[in-house]
Amino acid sequence: MEKIGRTKIVDLFKREDFGAVVNVKGWVRTRRGSKQVNFIALNDGSTINNVQVVVDLANFDEEMLKLITTGACLSVNGVMVESVGSGQKVEIQAREIEVLGVCDNTYPLQKKGHSMEFLREIAHLRPRTNTFGAVFRIRHNMAIAIHKFFHDKGFFYFHTPLITASDCEGAGQMFQVTTMNLYDLKKNEAGSIIYDDDFFGKQASLTVSGQLEGELAATALGSIYTFGPTFRAENSNTPRHLAEFWMIEPEVAFNDILDNMDLAEEFIKYCVKWALDNCADDVKFLNDMFDKELIERLQGVLKDDFVRLSYTDGIKILEDAVAKGHKFEFPVYWGVDLASEHERYLVEEHFKRPVILTDYPKEIKAFYMKMNDDNKTVRAMDVLFPKIGEIIGGSERESDYNKLVARIEELHIPMKDMWWYLDTRKFGTCPHSGFGLGFERLLLFVTGMSNIRDVIPFPRTPRNAEF
Ligand code: ATP
Ligand code: MN
Repeated sequence: MEKIGRTKIVDLFKREDFGAVVNVKGWVRTRRGSKQVNFIALNDGSTINNVQVVVDLANFDEEMLKLITTGACLSVNGVMVESVGSGQKVEIQAREIEVLGVCDNTYPLQKKGHSMEFLREIAHLRPRTNTFGAVFRIRHNMAIAIHKFFHDKGFFYFHTPLITASDCEGAGQMFQVTTMNLYDLKKNEAGSIIYDDDFFGKQASLTVSGQLEGELAATALGSIYTFGPTFRAENSNTPRHLAEFWMIEPEVAFNDILDNMDLAEEFIKYCVKWALDNCADDVKFLNDMFDKELIERLQGVLKDDFVRLSYTDGIKILEDAVAKGHKFEFPVYWGVDLASEHERYLVEEHFKRPVILTDYPKEIKAFYMKMNDDNKTVRAMDVLFPKIGEIIGGSERESDYNKLVARIEELHIPMKDMWWYLDTRKFGTCPHSGFGLGFERLLLFVTGMSNIRDVIPFPRTPRNAEF
């Protein structure tokens, strides 16, 4: 076969030099036609759209033609011509075809219309479907949007460790990292495991958040963000929780809680607009196939200011709803950690736009959040979104050394692990704020998918770590 440089299908559709001889490579989605002419829909993953390859059967070897089955991988040289029937501007009149990889009829993606559950079982192949191709292209684009947003604002991308020996958010949720022989653990008289001989000489885990190290960076470089994997061993089998997920955590010196809210709102709107502007074909496909209100919902978020409301006022609204007969599965009272149904009621039923809920009771929030003057609530902010509930959790941080130490003691957090964190408050402390956005929660919103397992290539959830 003549060697011609490959054109990606996405680029082919931008060309207008009809008559040129081009090469495309990709996988067969469908093949149909008559005894004389066949039409092959070829996809190479560069776009949701297939290119139609027109094959005049008389010009090709019969044995080779038999190998052109659904899923087979082809290299095609042919003439670029204007298309009338394929739905695209361009199609290819095949001159030479090479079958790079055959695909027999055990290929599980023969027919269309598989359930999402089935596709999860073949997560190694699902990127070849229209749906997952669209989702993973959007995932890439959102990652780019995030870096661009922060880079353009002068934030520095800061890498925080994935293995940590500080356990600030509760040990129950963390995965342990060890090289010890689990069948022969050394224990002291009290029955506690001795970690001296372990790899790090102490108990270590996978991180649940890069925030604490992010604060170290913000109090030196000013404005930073992290973007990396985080791990939570919480045994919550929900459509919104993963054991391994990606988080974006900006942290900014001199920002107070109001600046923090402004940043969160601007950031999320930027990302949503990016998807509408840069992933139009894929978003439209998902809108048409899964969620007819997707594009409308994305545009809706851009239109209005987010509602800003205190937790206490939010509880009042929910209590009113209960009084008027609205049924929630979980109880509503001041002090409760809101469930997703409560968050979604505020967003979807009451305000009909995103809500930033602030000033939560200190008991349900982390130790590092800045105490309000009432001594009961802290300067926390959760951004609540339609369909998702909590998409962002953040706060202004306690910058006062003594108050922070008091809080750490109150909660019996082992001080010996915290000395380096406390140093930020000892040496030139400053007001600062930050938040964490769950990347997959953002993707749920932008793609309209309803299960978080379907916006990450290889989901890790309780009892599932295949692929
Ligand atoms: P939730 O209440 O939904 O379990 P959280 O309060 O534990 O979340 P934070 O600790 O505030 O979450 O984490 C910051 C963000 O990370 C959340 O707003 C959410 O977007 C995301 N997130 C948290 N836990 C998970 C998870 N298990 N899987 C995917 N994303 C998560
Ligand atoms: Mn939270």
